[in-house]
Amino acid sequence: MHGELEHVFRVPLYDCRACGRPWPCLAAQAELTAQYTDMPLSLALYLASCWVDLLTAFARLDTGQTPDARATWERVVGWSVPVLRGTATKGKPGS
Ligand SMILES: [Zn+2]
Repeated sequence: MHGELEHVFRVPLYDCRACGRPWPCLAAQAELTAQYTDMPLSLALYLASCWVDLLTAFARLDTGQTPDARATWERVVGWSVPVLRGTATKGKPGS
């Protein structure tokens, strides 16, 4: 189906529903990149909201461990930076 993503996360562990790898798996990244190719900022906002939800879900798991904000950020959002850069070359950042 058009627009349907197969590799989506499962709560509360945020592993991939299709392949069981930590989300977003490589297939999920490819799907998201394709889905958001014309709107990389929307992708960034979506991933950032996923990251917040993930931290919240992890905090509720009562594992006795504090979720690693930096590591989970790199995992959920960090991979998309080249996608953002690749399509955001029109304007120069303000100095
Ligand atoms: Zn997957």
